[in-house]
Amino acid sequence: MSAINRLRELEREIVHLHDAAAVLGWDQQTYMPKGAAAGRAEQLATLSTLAHQKLTSDEFRSTLEEAEKESATLDPDSDDAALVRVTRRDFDKATKVPEELVTEESRLTALAHEVWVEARKKNDFGLFLPYLEKIVDLSLRKADHLGYEDHPYDALLDQFEPGAKTAEVKALFQSLREPLVGLLREIQATGIESSGIMTRSYPIEKQKEVTNDVVQRIGFDFETGRQDIAPHPFCTSFGNKDVRLTTRFDEHYLPGSLYASMHEAGHGMYEQGSPDEYEGTFLRGGASLGIHESQSRFWENQVGRSRAFTNYYLPRLKEFFPESLADVDEEAFYRAANEVKASLIRVEADEVTYPLHIMLRFEIETAMVERKVNLKELPELWNSKMEEYLGITPPSDADGVLQDVHWSGGMIGYFPTYLLGTLAAAQIWNAMQSELGGLEARIEAGEFQPILGWLRERVHRYGRKYLPNELLKRATGSELDSTHMMNYLRAKYSEIYGLSVTV
Ligand code: ZN
Repeated sequence: MSAINRLRELEREIVHLHDAAAVLGWDQQTYMPKGAAAGRAEQLATLSTLAHQKLTSDEFRSTLEEAEKESATLDPDSDDAALVRVTRRDFDKATKVPEELVTEESRLTALAHEVWVEARKKNDFGLFLPYLEKIVDLSLRKADHLGYEDHPYDALLDQFEPGAKTAEVKALFQSLREPLVGLLREIQATGIESSGIMTRSYPIEKQKEVTNDVVQRIGFDFETGRQDIAPHPFCTSFGNKDVRLTTRFDEHYLPGSLYASMHEAGHGMYEQGSPDEYEGTFLRGGASLGIHESQSRFWENQVGRSRAFTNYYLPRLKEFFPESLADVDEEAFYRAANEVKASLIRVEADEVTYPLHIMLRFEIETAMVERKVNLKELPELWNSKMEEYLGITPPSDADGVLQDVHWSGGMIGYFPTYLLGTLAAAQIWNAMQSELGGLEARIEAGEFQPILGWLRERVHRYGRKYLPNELLKRATGSELDSTHMMNYLRAKYSEIYGLSVTV
């Protein structure tokens, strides 16, 4: 057997261990009784230790080295060559960080998570502070092991967005700052208030039917997936034939389920589109968190919050909610789905303010990693940036610096992927529009198959084969370019709020 095929066999076991762990993780966040938490943590630790041991074993190393020799003469674009390349990247990431540090991190973050929950509940940043200090310290040590050329944040960012560079992200985000803040101020100056349509009563039983209906219509396959309820919506998969979506319900907030489900279905359809040939190998899945987010944001925003989709879906929604939507026409619903309001919480932010929430976090993270901020002063820094960008000051740290789970989990470097994905979504829409044309008419007619087909062909079928920027270039013809999102936002919201289109 060739070394590349032996590598495939070794990977299959590792992938299965991760899949088994993911099933347990999904269960933990959906159906597991509370009392099972401690036992579940141990089961998960056992599975991830086994997977780590297999990946870092001598057998794996020598098989990878032989496979590299074999692949030297292959077309670099072939799946075999890509498999070896991607495996080398994963292997290096797993072996560069010493095992003691991995163990230290999992212990620290398990504790830090508990403390963060408590700190947030009590609105006491001081409780979380010593843990955050340890997490920043550990992240810097991890960055040293992983290695970087310019900036320690590069190493951290690379864990989530392979190939992305801090300096490039910084320049990209900075270029968005003025136009976004400017657009927000213009919208705020109109004084247009919320219609209150989205916060009427939408019975939860009916919302459940809606969320299953809507994701099925856009192309999520229930033969190879399902949808359940979780406090924080997420998507996970155990292969392209078993993809799990979650959503949540609030009787008085329809977008919280409707658009969250479309968002998660965007992730889910990406996973369902991963090729069968990649199953059980490291090529399975998505290119990066940013590319994953481009798929979810595309279906949530470019499709879900469009006028065309509203025209298509409102009549259907009215069947589910005849009373609450009786007096609402397409135009009113479209505007209600796109209300812009500076708010405290990232996950509830509209399309215009969302990027500002991410930029703020990125600036704070890089300052933490550069040791330019005394962590004690983080709440003040957070609040002053909220004021500067959004014009509001959080009344409490629970709704400010303590709102996100990421830092307690050691996930410094994760946030930028949300905005990178949002930028890519707008770029993908434009590329698709110029190739397929008439996207609005297709959406209005409920024809989502050509749209999903384009994504399958240009993005999904490559799995993890290409680095994010290369994939984007193949899919759209150019590397990430933020002008697509800015043009999209300005055109859309100028029309909704009656602003001048050009600044
Ligand atoms: Zn997402």
